[in-house]
Amino acid sequence: MALARVARVSATLMDGKALAERIRAHVAREIGELGHVGLATVLVGDDPASEVYIRLKHKAAKEAGIDARDVRLDASTSEADVLALVAELNADDEVDGILVQLPLPHEIDETKVTYAVAPSKDVDGFHPVNAGNLYLGTPLHVPATPAGCMALLAEYGVDPEGKNAVVIGRSEIVGRPAAMLLLQAHATVTICHSRTVDLRAEVRRADIVVAAVGVPGIVTAEMVKPGATVIDVGLTRGDDGSIRGDVDPAVADVAGLLTPMPGAPAR
Ligand code: NAP
Repeated sequence: MALARVARVSATLMDGKALAERIRAHVAREIGELGHVGLATVLVGDDPASEVYIRLKHKAAKEAGIDARDVRLDASTSEADVLALVAELNADDEVDGILVQLPLPHEIDETKVTYAVAPSKDVDGFHPVNAGNLYLGTPLHVPATPAGCMALLAEYGVDPEGKNAVVIGRSEIVGRPAAMLLLQAHATVTICHSRTVDLRAEVRRADIVVAAVGVPGIVTAEMVKPGATVIDVGLTRGDDGSIRGDVDPAVADVAGLLTPMPGAPAR
């Protein structure tokens, strides 16, 4: 008896790390022409994950030729003192960009601090003025992760124009800005979230899927249209320290382009 032939596609993995290196080198050349560019990161407390993010941001800044100041405040610092520091950095001509590492200790109102950063220095793009500009289609500073998703699409020649794009997740830092950027790039955009009734049906129509949920394996192979481009933003750390994405590994047999599993090298 002849074996049934199953159509299996092996997705090309999108190499975000190599792209990031090229972007940093490009930024370094631009800064070489511009002269001094200063950044200040602010870390309040000693959350281990935040410490890692701050370290990575400084490593990236150094590679890009950015003069980065590492401001650390004790976990017991008052909200008023954090706001005073932000005001100082806003007024400092040596500082062009400010990154306040979130989460802040519970006693500090994150919204107040985020809104206190001058929009022109808000390189995270979290201030309502920057969120509003993105909504209006005139972005200035855009949150980094959605900007990275768009850079990956461009790098792999995926033009969103006219394509069906499904973004799973509607957070202010990933889902919403990703959807706005895709809309600006003329995709037909659907935003899914925890109340979406039939996630499978929505994802199945997508030429481009951006998964930003934080539920390991929520995007399965049977949900994905063959040949689709799938970007997995999700990162969930298990009790054993392992990291899992939102996209099930079997999606590699269906997608055309796919970001590697978190922690795995691109092929
Ligand atoms: P978040 O604020 O928790 O948002 C998660 C979103 O997923 C929410 O909009 C939520 O819907 C939606 N959701 C939850 N369960 C769902 C379900 N069963 N079906 C459909 N949608 C569902 O998280 P986030 O900050 O956007 O981050 C998302 C993921 O990306 C996390 O794993 C995070 O660690 C990761 N992340 C990665 C990077 C990176 O650079 N790689 C950067 C930031 C975040 P509701 O709005 O209805 O609650």
